[in-house]
Amino acid sequence: MTILGNYIYGSIYNSFEHIYMLMKRVLNFMFKRVNFSKSKTKEHLLSNKQIARIKQHIEYEDEQLLFYGLLYTGMRISEFIHMRRDWLDFDEMLIRIPREIKCLCQSCKKDKVHPNIWRTKTKAAARIIPILPEVHGRFLGYFSDHKKIMVRIKSRRMAYYYLHKLGERAGVKLFPHQLRGTFATLLAEKEFTHWQILSVLGWTDIKTAMEYITLSGARIKRAFDQKWSA
Ligand SMILES: [Zn+2]
Repeated sequence: MTILGNYIYGSIYNSFEHIYMLMKRVLNFMFKRVNFSKSKTKEHLLSNKQIARIKQHIEYEDEQLLFYGLLYTGMRISEFIHMRRDWLDFDEMLIRIPREIKCLCQSCKKDKVHPNIWRTKTKAAARIIPILPEVHGRFLGYFSDHKKIMVRIKSRRMAYYYLHKLGERAGVKLFPHQLRGTFATLLAEKEFTHWQILSVLGWTDIKTAMEYITLSGARIKRAFDQKWSA
């Protein structure tokens, strides 16, 4: 009886705790004003050490989806929250971002130029991104249960909020665009060419890709290693 009693008590306690945590998150989200002012991406690129620390502080599935999803695809936040199951091709291991889709989300409804349509920021942003091992299992799991990201992460604001809270726990300022910039840096460090970086990130201007390559310094470091002492 005692074991059964403990078990019942434990389950009730667990569900209460679960409800309490959920309520706390909802109330926080509704009432706490968070400053989402735009920060400069290049000043907040994450180091590998910071990335590792943030990963250790992830507590919720949505946070995990958001952090890994943005960091290892380099998507813009608007692209990420609009991602749907049919964008992903698990045979080819690719994500295809279409130029436009029909969308009835709050932000697309309000769009005066083309209401109820979501469109990539530029033509170049309609692109193909590889599904990296870091997100493969997560995306496979998520999209076997849900048709789109928006089922869980309903708006840009919610995404900002989740990252802000995760960043607070890890002691790092965290916002969506910085993860896109950090992904570009990771590619630059691995010495992808500026054309490859441009194509994956969907930039129009080669200058942006060049900036990340210069910032990372990987190429110049290797050139010196090879040539200086030779
Ligand atoms: Zn939309």
